[in-house]
Amino acid sequence: MLEYAQRIKSLPPYLFAQIDQKKREKLAQGVDLIDLGVGDPDIPTPQPVVEAMKRAVEKPENHRYPSYEGMLSFREAVADWYKRRFGVQLDPATEVVTLIGSKEGIAHFPLAFVNPGDVVLCPDPAYPVYKIGTLFAGGEPYFIPLKEENGFLPDFRSVPEAVLRRAKIIWVNYPNNPTSATADESFYRELLQWARERNIVVASDLAYSEIYFGDRKPPSILQIEGAKEIAIEFHSFSKTFNMTGWRLGMAVGNKNLVAGLGKVKTNVDSGQFQAVQEAGITALNLPESELEKIRSTYRERREAMVRALQEVGLEVFRSEATFYLWVKVPKGYTSAEFVSKLLEECGIVCTPGNGFGEHGEGYFRISLTVPTRRLLEAVERIRGLKL
Ligand SMILES: *Cc1c(COP(=O)(O)O)cnc(C)c1O
Repeated sequence: MLEYAQRIKSLPPYLFAQIDQKKREKLAQGVDLIDLGVGDPDIPTPQPVVEAMKRAVEKPENHRYPSYEGMLSFREAVADWYKRRFGVQLDPATEVVTLIGSKEGIAHFPLAFVNPGDVVLCPDPAYPVYKIGTLFAGGEPYFIPLKEENGFLPDFRSVPEAVLRRAKIIWVNYPNNPTSATADESFYRELLQWARERNIVVASDLAYSEIYFGDRKPPSILQIEGAKEIAIEFHSFSKTFNMTGWRLGMAVGNKNLVAGLGKVKTNVDSGQFQAVQEAGITALNLPESELEKIRSTYRERREAMVRALQEVGLEVFRSEATFYLWVKVPKGYTSAEFVSKLLEECGIVCTPGNGFGEHGEGYFRISLTVPTRRLLEAVERIRGLKL
């Protein structure tokens, strides 16, 4: 048998494998599992988007290879949406590239700019792809802890100068998965100034910009003056429009960064199916009331769940964005132990915080991607535990 390459062998062990195994056992025993583990919306894609896809599939011109950088009409719709939502002006021809889901772009981006030995600054805890993309490019991830006392914002000033000399990219993700924390304009302004002085590219993952519940909408980093000189932003249709299965996203911002990513993509994929991009145009032009409906579903679930968890004595990080709750494990347990207990004794699947990095230890993540009735049933089961 041919051995795996070093880059696969050096991947960290799959932390969820054990939970998956137990989950399968429970299901086989006929346990009524409540799965709060995965970040995958349970609400279907808005009907107008589905209808647009049906029409687009019928068109023979969509059956051929798409353009590498994406349809111009799609990139124009992205630019229009950024203008409406964030007041950010983008040139659709040079500052937007279509992605096959944002994960694809996030994973490929370091291949364009990271040489072996270069450092990429990644948050911890975090979406794992920042680290994996870095490793696949031969780079070294350096982890900046996200701590509750800092509102789960990275203290980038704490990174040693010796590390900074080799650093090429810093990743940020607000509203944040897994902590649900948000960042404001002043955070981005300070980060950009710091990064510009050190010639470090800022890569922002804005997957959750539309899942918010407060009066202040989450900003784009590109709203900050001068951001386009050193920043690229990754966005996704998955969470905004309940389109995880469709695989559609975009990267926008500095044109050299967008072009570099485009060069990688030209050589490894041949673009996203044009019918999906046409449906994406419809999604970007949905009336705001469609998104408000999605938000109000999550808002109701969040409020009910936060209240119920507090009643049983669990401490939830207070935030007004994302469909996650970041909860402290009770005293006397590790994240893995407590998540195991929830599965064994309550039939509830949650994600242990350390699955997102060592600084996630002491927490677990709940996904609000099941109906309120099931969330409350989960809390009733937790209430029965001796903690
Ligand atoms: C879900 C998610 C994405 C989006 O992934 P897609 O590939 O667009 O489905 C990106 N970043 C974070 C942090 C996420 O949670």
